[in-house]
Amino acid sequence: MTARRIFGVETEYGITCATTDGTTMTADDAARLLFRSVIARGLSSNVFLRNGARLYLDVGSHPEYATAECDDVHHLVVQDRAGERILDELTEQANAHLAADGVAGTVHLFKNNLDSAGNSFGCHENYLVRRRRDFRDMAEALVPFFVTRQVLTGAGHVRRTAAGRPAFAFSQRADQMWDALSSATTRSRPIINTRDEPHADAELYRRMHVIVGDSSVAETTTMLKVGATDLLLGMLEAGVKVRDLALAEPMRAIREISHDATGTEPVELADGRRVSATDVQEDLLTRVLDFVSTETDLTPVQRQVLDLWERGIQALRTQDPTGVSTELDWAVKAGLLERYRAKHNLGLDDPRVSRLLLAYHDISPTRGLATTMAERGLLARITTDEEVAEATTVPPQTTRAKLRGDFVGAAQDRRRDITVDWVHLKINDANQRTVMCKDPFAAVDQRVEDLMAALDA
Ligand code: ATP
Ligand code: MG
Ligand code: MG
Repeated sequence: MTARRIFGVETEYGITCATTDGTTMTADDAARLLFRSVIARGLSSNVFLRNGARLYLDVGSHPEYATAECDDVHHLVVQDRAGERILDELTEQANAHLAADGVAGTVHLFKNNLDSAGNSFGCHENYLVRRRRDFRDMAEALVPFFVTRQVLTGAGHVRRTAAGRPAFAFSQRADQMWDALSSATTRSRPIINTRDEPHADAELYRRMHVIVGDSSVAETTTMLKVGATDLLLGMLEAGVKVRDLALAEPMRAIREISHDATGTEPVELADGRRVSATDVQEDLLTRVLDFVSTETDLTPVQRQVLDLWERGIQALRTQDPTGVSTELDWAVKAGLLERYRAKHNLGLDDPRVSRLLLAYHDISPTRGLATTMAERGLLARITTDEEVAEATTVPPQTTRAKLRGDFVGAAQDRRRDITVDWVHLKINDANQRTVMCKDPFAAVDQRVEDLMAALDA
């Protein structure tokens, strides 16, 4: 069986408040309003929830939801969607506050990566890997994968060319990246952040912190983004080397690939060969298929990942996105764009087109497009509303998230004051009892049961 792995996704959301009565409300104001009820409940704008996730607002920045640790891609997609539901509920509460205060405005939350002023915010993927001496080699081997996967998992974007013309691109995030590997997240914006903060037993593990992805609206795009990375990591950890795909200039390539809407223009490799993003993805998929060919027990979602990976490449080879037009964000968006422009005879840079594209990322089931598109069969789903609703309060059952979520839930029910992070669980009373959970795979722990019992004391 492919090795079990822990992963989690952090999503920063864009926020705006559109007012119609002349009052101005900055993104900061809107974010503070959004967190009013969170702060009232927990006295902090940085909280862990009873589903094991973390919800927080850094000073002056974007609301962020970090899913609890998952060990299955399907669970991860469910947890990520649960985050959208939780934030949408907060948005509705914020809008009710505005209405009560007589402000004619609406707060919107967007699952995208660029605001109208061009500021970028991220979607981070986290993958647990075994600590090994050659972590950097493995990370280097992954760079060509991360630079090229945008032709499959990019969110789709209308950018301005140097000449000021609008043009379709694969990714919102590609133009914002400055480094392949680095330990700083903001200053140099690397593809992989190498800051060594494993949130686990540091002797055994590292957390690979991937900064480069676009946020995904389509559940199937999230599935492919995380699922393909997981399978490729498994192959590299098993000792398969990928040395022949190193790019001559990764940061130049990431932009060129994003800007070439066909996905087929070649970029230069370190060994002088010229290959397209589609070639690189096909090559990696072939190696992964070869690696898993002896596996008899791939999970259903792993099979779905491999199938969509293959169909995504096929769509680029044939320059016909029909086969993935409900599953990959860039293709869903391109279709939406085409239908709308044909109907209204509009240019790519018409403000109505920009609003339409933004609405694709609006997480509200009523104001955003995704829910209606899914109902009309224009956007694929792999979760049900029921499982997403359940995941807003129930943690993943097979990882450390269960210990944390159960502890947070018990403390909330008993109105006990606790402090929690990814590793620590602590009761804030005279005894200050603390349990450290260094194994993210462990969903059962007698020490945590004892700690929960102490909540009743
Ligand atoms: P920041 O984003 O504030 O710089 P951070 O990168 O530590 O800090 P958090 O926002 O706290 O990120 O989110 C951490 C993410 O990593 C969560 O999605 C969580 O599920 C995941 N995670 C926690 N522990 C591990 C682990 N040991 N391995 C892989 N992922 C983990
Ligand atoms: Mg974070
Ligand atoms: Mg992070």
